[in-house]
Amino acid sequence: MTTLNLIVPCYNEEEVITETCSRLLALLDRLIGAGEVSDESRITFVDDGSRDRTWSIIETMHASDARCRGIKLSRNRGHQNALLAGLTVAEGDVLVSLDADLQDDIEAIPRMLEEYRKGAEIVFGVRHKRACDTFFKRFTAQSYYKTLKALGVEILPGHADFRLMSRKTLDALKDFQEVNLFLRGIIPLLGFRTAIVEYERAARFAGESKYPLAKMLAFAFDGITSFSAVPLQWSTRIGALLALGSLGFGAWAVYARLFTDLAVPGWASTVVPMYFLGGIQLLFLGVIGGYISKTYAETKHRPRFIVERTL
Ligand code: UDP
Ligand code: MG
Repeated sequence: MTTLNLIVPCYNEEEVITETCSRLLALLDRLIGAGEVSDESRITFVDDGSRDRTWSIIETMHASDARCRGIKLSRNRGHQNALLAGLTVAEGDVLVSLDADLQDDIEAIPRMLEEYRKGAEIVFGVRHKRACDTFFKRFTAQSYYKTLKALGVEILPGHADFRLMSRKTLDALKDFQEVNLFLRGIIPLLGFRTAIVEYERAARFAGESKYPLAKMLAFAFDGITSFSAVPLQWSTRIGALLALGSLGFGAWAVYARLFTDLAVPGWASTVVPMYFLGGIQLLFLGVIGGYISKTYAETKHRPRFIVERTL
């Protein structure tokens, strides 16, 4: 019979994990009772270097029910690496990753298992509405998916990291050694038979989002090139500003020539292209730099996470 393991990355989630754990245990009981998964099934909380009581709560939960397991990372490495740690270290025939804040509807899990029984090796949880997110988040997420698609990145709109993966696909995932981790871009590259389960995304149950705007932007950038060295980003931005500014110069020069007597002959045709080309050059230096810095990070082969303890 299938052994299920639920992988839950947690970063400063003391307000939610007790409730998350009890709901997931209830779900496990139900699935075990119905004979859908084996009684070896468990829940694995990955503590991503939390600074609050998250780990001690995980220890307490483990003491009261041995089906609750824990993996403690030595420091905060971010959601994607915490997830990877769970997917790499945890045992089980089938792993389902979900957020600690109960935004992913756990009632979709039995439906994912059904797709697995029908032969799918990867089942993507896809939200069919984003009613609970703010307009801003909805809008930025949608534009981002469109940008990725336009850039040729294969990605499933509406799918975050709520997914079921079989042991076979997890073994395949281990061969992807990249440090710049963007799992939702990697998983479609694995291939295998996939399926989709739709669900409605709820509001965060308690606590605050651990993805403030800055983190979200950084993550988005990672998805496209990877994390780039900051000065290289600056040259990109300054370049873009200069290029735009020079267009403004151009417009002003045309205005000055037509409507005022301030125009100096030859000024616009010299100065405008100078700024414009300078801007474009800096812009693309920044883009090239972005890719070089990605290569730089990859060549170091640093560990993507370090496990401090497991329960
Ligand atoms: N998370 C993590 N490490 C981090 C940030 C977040 O493990 O550095 C976890 C977090 O505990 C949660 C999941 O990633 O389980 C998604 O984070 P969150 O709910 O804050 O993001 P949002 O739903 O607002 O995008
Ligand atoms: Mg959330």
